[in-house]
Amino acid sequence: KSGFISIIGRPNVGKSTFLNRVIGQKIAIMSDKPQTTRNKVQGVLTTDDAQMIFIDTPGIHKPKHKLGDFMMKIAVSSLKEVDLILFMVNAEEGFGRGEEFILEKLSAIQTPVFLVINKIDLISPDMLLTIIDTYKEKYDFAEIIPISAIEGNNVERLLEQIQMRL
Ligand code: GDP
Ligand code: MG
Repeated sequence: KSGFISIIGRPNVGKSTFLNRVIGQKIAIMSDKPQTTRNKVQGVLTTDDAQMIFIDTPGIHKPKHKLGDFMMKIAVSSLKEVDLILFMVNAEEGFGRGEEFILEKLSAIQTPVFLVINKIDLISPDMLLTIIDTYKEKYDFAEIIPISAIEGNNVERLLEQIQMRL
């Protein structure tokens, strides 16, 4: 099994930390060869059962910038080409217009989306339940997975869920 996974989310939510942990702990090949003209390979994780190709989708994770409609359409349509989208959010930050904007764009495509709630080491279990409830109302996520990229909590589970979708 092999597939393309795009990690999107606002700056500082922990996308690079997650990738470094995942690619760093397993045998992997880092590559900066462009996979398509739009998507850049950030790392490849090879396990016994699967190859996970993580790619960066420029544009979609910068909703605060004033991108033209055209640029945004390109960014969104590039997400149609991947097998799975990881939408990463910061557990410490509430649901805001940035998140709303991204979910609106995602609702126009068919690709399954995992909500990855990162930095759970910084919040209480009660807080986490509230966040999960909030997001459940907003979008039909294929999975909702809380993690701490920095401490590694639940990262293995996330990888298992990703493999199951490929
Ligand atoms: P990116 O912009 O989405 O790639 O975010 P980074 O991976 O660069 O992380 C931004 C900041 O958040 C850095 O200071 C990280 O150390 C920190 N960070 C990332 N993941 C976690 C986490 O799980 N817990 C905590 N407490 N901090 C984190
Ligand atoms: Mg980064």
